Amino acid sequence: PDQMGELLSKYDPADSRYTRPLVKPVRGDVLQEAVQKDRITPYFQPKLDRNKKIASAEVLARWQDNNQLFIPPIAFIPVAEDTGIIQELTLSVFKQSVAHFSRWLAMGYKFKLAVNISTENLKELTFPDQLEEIASKYHVSCDQIILELTESRLMENLVKGLDVLSRLRLKGFALSIDDFGTGYSSMEHLNRIPFNELKIDRAFVHDVHQDPAASAILESSTSLAKKLRMVTVAEGVETPEDWRSVVNVGCDLIQGFYRAKPMAPEQFESWLVTNSKVA
Ligand code: C2E
Ligand code: MG
Ligand code: MG
Ligand code: MG
Repeated sequence: PDQMGELLSKYDPADSRYTRPLVKPVRGDVLQEAVQKDRITPYFQPKLDRNKKIASAEVLARWQDNNQLFIPPIAFIPVAEDTGIIQELTLSVFKQSVAHFSRWLAMGYKFKLAVNISTENLKELTFPDQLEEIASKYHVSCDQIILELTESRLMENLVKGLDVLSRLRLKGFALSIDDFGTGYSSMEHLNRIPFNELKIDRAFVHDVHQDPAASAILESSTSLAKKLRMVTVAEGVETPEDWRSVVNVGCDLIQGFYRAKPMAPEQFESWLVTNSKVA
């Protein structure tokens, strides 16, 4: 019943906009226990083409604590990265989401799974083998999976990072550069890493029709990605105006609250039933 508890009780796992800047980081030992007990679970948000057909679903980690409150990723991903818990967290979220994904494939749905990874994951040379092993356990092939890399922190060991990314590509995983235009997600990396997809940060998407500078960045990122033969994704599409802007500029895929929020697995499955055809 402190201020933090009160804030979290208002947190909507489908929409972390409002609590985001107010949430305090969590304790490492508490996080460790939550990961071990599989309390960090996947939500799913579709990436749609301009005809509203699903192309892939992004996995977003959600932590429901002992008091049934949801803690948003901004409060625990940085802690996981600082403490090394990120390795176990990534594998746990990956495993749970692949398990759901294989069920949806068996039902006849056709789309890809997109999982967020951190630059910290690239410190582990066996990371690609670990992901492949989990996927194959569920009879999912690596080329049905996209890995979204957010560079919120600089890759300390660039050579090793590039090595692990190349191994992931060789196994068939697709690579996506997330939050392009922010953090360390730079042009230099487009030249060195074999990315398949570029996600334009919502800072250059939401309300872009009212912002000439953002609009210029959206346009040039899209055309740059096209020249590099990458799939472009606009994130943070919240309104019909946002949708129109990104379609006009030629973005391939669209993600955001306007069409679909992140959903719990059961909820996402009903979304599929109503919004997607089986093959
Ligand atoms: P991200 O990968 O860029 O994910 C998109 C974020 O935008 C998600 O926030 C999503 O809920 C939110 N979002 C989706 N549509 C809209 C919209 O229309 N408007 C606005 N304002 N927001 C929208 P979320 O779930 O709070 O995640 C925040 C970040 O935490 C993610 O950003 C990602 O960097 C990180 N993250 C989440 N799950 C994982 C994970 O399993 N592993 C790792 N390493 N990072 C994760
Ligand atoms: Mg992402
Ligand atoms: Mg993003
Ligand atoms: Mg973003």
